[in-house]
Amino acid sequence: MEQRQVYMDHNATTPLHPAVKAALTDAMEAFGNPSSLHALGRTAREQVEDAREKTASFLGASPDEIVFVGSGSEGNNTVLSILACASRHCTLRRDRGPEIVTTTIEHPCILETSKCLADRGVDVKFVDVDAYGKVDLDQLKDCVNERTAVVSVMMANNEIGTIQDIKAIAEIVHGRGAVFHTDAVQAVGKIPVNVRELGVDFLTLSAHKIYGPKGIGALYIRKQVPFCPLILGGHQEKGRRAGTENTLGIVGLGKAIEMRAAEMDDEAKRLLELKAALRKGIEERIPDVQFNGHPTDCLPGTLNVSFDGAEGEAILLYLDLEGIAVSTGSACASGSLDPSHVLLATGMPAEQAHGSVRISMGRENTEEDVAYVVEQLPDVIARIRDMSTAYKRDAQ
Ligand SMILES: *Cc1c(COP(=O)(O)O)cnc(C)c1O
Repeated sequence: MEQRQVYMDHNATTPLHPAVKAALTDAMEAFGNPSSLHALGRTAREQVEDAREKTASFLGASPDEIVFVGSGSEGNNTVLSILACASRHCTLRRDRGPEIVTTTIEHPCILETSKCLADRGVDVKFVDVDAYGKVDLDQLKDCVNERTAVVSVMMANNEIGTIQDIKAIAEIVHGRGAVFHTDAVQAVGKIPVNVRELGVDFLTLSAHKIYGPKGIGALYIRKQVPFCPLILGGHQEKGRRAGTENTLGIVGLGKAIEMRAAEMDDEAKRLLELKAALRKGIEERIPDVQFNGHPTDCLPGTLNVSFDGAEGEAILLYLDLEGIAVSTGSACASGSLDPSHVLLATGMPAEQAHGSVRISMGRENTEEDVAYVVEQLPDVIARIRDMSTAYKRDAQ
């Protein structure tokens, strides 16, 4: 009998939606450069602008506030790098000091950019989170002052799924005269995101986390907010991101967003039910477990769980042998044996953080998938714990 394949690593990436695949296949015929004035060019331009309208309308933005970028990482890098930019394209007010405020649980593309800017003389402050991964708003208030140029706080965390109160944070930031960016790569298409309601100045999203292709993302840039492009060259994207447009990627992103608009609400309900069943199954069948992240303000499909006396990497590899794909921490942090910076930031001891896995479900997952994981997991954990002298010692 063929082994069941269960993909539960949607926060790392997602399979293409069938409608996206079909849209990409169609779009492949139109190879024109959107900047060309002839018919082929105009067709490509229409495709790009159609995707821009879909993206804008899904976010409650206007189309000229959407800039397509090469990835979520590029979008995030662009916003933070505004500070280090001194080009004639830069419209940043120079009366604000060179200071960035962000948090300890951001994605590596924010953390590494922040550290790099710190090396170049920018003051960077990292705001702490509580045990559930919620940003400490009092500390945030203390950190943002008249020298702060940009504040960046992620909307939903990729490892533990915790969702921040972005509206309240944007109010605090604006009350102190700074601009506010949110990395919404994990939020857009999973929970409602409206840029006007949230009051954000910049927002980043990425297609491959929502059943679109890899290597394409978008940046929302509120009208009149100071901006400086990261990539200079031609006049593409109204001078905000040079380089011939990735038309196929953009078509795929537009279609992915259109499908999210149609499917998101029902899917969220379904995923919450699947997650409850998964959680119950784990609780009933495996002792010494702890669930991480916020109990309610959490992405519908994300479940992060720690197993005492079992290494996350070992759990991942044993589950892989059974055809189940999950992750330890973020895809970007795996490959290193350092425990997740997110779990450590919630105050979790390193040993427990090492024993954590992230299960992130998506649109193709079914009740049968959950039942299969609940069936396989107890045996996997028991086998690993049998080999762990520390767990056996504690159990005695
Ligand atoms: C995946 C991810 C990114 C990076 O997006 P890419 O398109 O893979 O570069 C940024 N932030 C968060 C929260 C993510 O989950």
